[in-house]
Amino acid sequence: MNIKTKLRLGLGILVAMIVLLVALSVVNLQILTATEPTSPAAGPGLYRALIWVLVVGAFSIIIGVVLLLLLPGSINKPIHELANGIQEIANHNYAKRLYLKSQEFVEVSHNFNRMAKRLEDYHASTLSKMMASKKFMETIINSVREPIIGLDNEMNVAFINDEALNIINLTREEIIMKSAKEVALHNDLLRRLVRELVDTEKSDSHTKSEPLKIYADNKESYFQMNSMPITQMDKDGVTPKQQGYVIMLKNITEFKELDSAKTTFISTVSHELKTPISAIMMSLQLLEDERVGSLNEEQTELAKSIQDNSERLLNITSELLNMTQVESGKLQLKPRVTKPIELIEYAIKANRVQAEKFKIQIEVQYPEEKIGRLFVDSEKIAWVLTNLLSNAIRYSYENGRIIIGARQSDDGYIEMFVQDFGRGIDPRYHKSIFDHYFRVPGTKVQGSGLGLSISKDFVEAHGGTLSIQSELGKGCCFIMRLKV
Ligand code: ADP
Repeated sequence: MNIKTKLRLGLGILVAMIVLLVALSVVNLQILTATEPTSPAAGPGLYRALIWVLVVGAFSIIIGVVLLLLLPGSINKPIHELANGIQEIANHNYAKRLYLKSQEFVEVSHNFNRMAKRLEDYHASTLSKMMASKKFMETIINSVREPIIGLDNEMNVAFINDEALNIINLTREEIIMKSAKEVALHNDLLRRLVRELVDTEKSDSHTKSEPLKIYADNKESYFQMNSMPITQMDKDGVTPKQQGYVIMLKNITEFKELDSAKTTFISTVSHELKTPISAIMMSLQLLEDERVGSLNEEQTELAKSIQDNSERLLNITSELLNMTQVESGKLQLKPRVTKPIELIEYAIKANRVQAEKFKIQIEVQYPEEKIGRLFVDSEKIAWVLTNLLSNAIRYSYENGRIIIGARQSDDGYIEMFVQDFGRGIDPRYHKSIFDHYFRVPGTKVQGSGLGLSISKDFVEAHGGTLSIQSELGKGCCFIMRLKV
């Protein structure tokens, strides 16, 4: 029965009862007016009419009350159920269905159920699509043979592939969605990774970190860590917003092994070359001796050229040997207390012949007052100064001037410097000149590109620094800073 019928029926009954009540009251009145109120014939008639009035009145009241109680409820109930259903759908409960009996609402509930079913199907399909694409992404990350770890902005582990789990030695459940900082408390490797990540973030530098030595695949392996922030466009589609970080580890064990084989090879060859070169130089010295027989001018020239080249060869082999010492980590320092002036004098003495050859004047700048002594491996630091002075001579113009000296800085360091007024070095090469085998493009003077890199390694092994100040065309000043 629809609401309209219900209302009509209810009101109809009520009106009929009221009409009946009024009719009975009228009958009652007529009886009263037609008969003598005191006559015995009026009594039973009045009594019956009164009973009818009372019964019909009571009945009307009951019907009225029943209508009052039930009618609003029966109209309100389907509306309430409909509102409830909409609320459930809004709460993503797409399984909600309505079965309203009221005629007007049968259609409504049918349409509601159709809508809910379509939403349910759509939701199930998008959810399964999302699950499928998530699985696909996980498969891709897992199929990468390098360890990868993803962190959100709060440093919780958002994803990690099997390779990373393998080297970190944890199960997926032990780490996924957990705070990396907390897990790192019980895991050395993760602690190092998190620390490196935090340091890189703080320093904002993109210099390569030292390789990590990790025991993986039943052998010692080396990994290079790289990290980068994950950024996504914000809701406006323009502003980039950081979502977290990705840590990637590159297995460089193979390169390390090749590098170490190369270092061993260079070391062996340079060592083996030293003896025959020294023998050649000894023989040349003997040739100069008149007792062996005198050389004519041309022969003397040739002998001189052989000597120059042998000296260069000996220098290169000693540079290569020094480099292999640093690379293989076998650099052993034998420090002793040394006066800076002793090192300077050694370097000048070692370069005297060369300086005379190019008619270069060497000036020494040394403070009058006492300066501190160094506690260094004097052989190594003297080698650095000799190399810097040799460069200054080789890269200066003929008849040039070079200043070599030392000073004590206010912060307790001894600064030793070599300054020339030659061609200088373009600032864009200032970083690269300390790399192995690097030579400024267009350099005509012969060399190996190893001297400065070895010098830097030697100075840093002492906890010091080697830096350059130079402008193209204005010469160079190399400054070595060592703690007193
Ligand atoms: P090498 O001198 O054997 O090439 P180094 O490592 O000592 O190797 O120097 C690297 C490069 O830096 C040189 O090839 C040269 O181009 C440049 N360089 C070094 N010292 C000077 C200097 N005093 N003046 C100008 N250029 C220099």
